[in-house]
Amino acid sequence: MAQDGMYKDWEIEKLIKWYVPDVYQPSIYRIDFEKLRERGIELITFDLDDTIVPTATNHMPAPAPSLMSDLKKLGFKVMLISNSENEKKVKRFAEKLNVEYSIAGAMKPSGKSFEEAKKRYSLEEKQIAHVGNSIMNDVGGANPLGITTCLIRYVGNVGHNVIKVDKELKAELKKRELWQKHHIGQKGDQYYQLGETQKGSSPRVAEIKEQKRV
Ligand SMILES: [Mg+2]
Repeated sequence: MAQDGMYKDWEIEKLIKWYVPDVYQPSIYRIDFEKLRERGIELITFDLDDTIVPTATNHMPAPAPSLMSDLKKLGFKVMLISNSENEKKVKRFAEKLNVEYSIAGAMKPSGKSFEEAKKRYSLEEKQIAHVGNSIMNDVGGANPLGITTCLIRYVGNVGHNVIKVDKELKAELKKRELWQKHHIGQKGDQYYQLGETQKGSSPRVAEIKEQKRV
């Protein structure tokens, strides 16, 4: 029964600090990166599978390389942090995107590849944003370190939702009105950029997110 009680003693603060993303958008192409730049972000790290490249096709979506080059024009450094053990694949996509990549098999939510990124570019956590599709690995790996987190719902032209989340954690976030895919109490999705939170979410979310950025 250990699994049943996994999140029972979790405090609301911890759920927000660890698992509520700072940005939630339908895809990597909809994130307001200029806003991230204004807030002092220097490095964007991207998850690869189901964030940039759909695992359903394993083909690079046409607009991905130009987004990466636009980000570099905005002044960002860009790096892939993938849990894939297939270093050849990660290297191949990094080359196609013309970006750097961390050691393959990053084992997120472990913070080791974020530490590596910090050292590589001599940056602090608050100068880094991480983009991914997994609430457990991407949001849950980067958020506790103080890295700005961006969650995306779709990848490429694959029609289905790619958000990965443990069932129990998902229920807990929803029950406490901290975060959910769909709008709380209203029809449709509810996406938000940096500095915003979901409409109807607990006021603690906005408070804790604001503290993170001070
Ligand atoms: Mg992924």
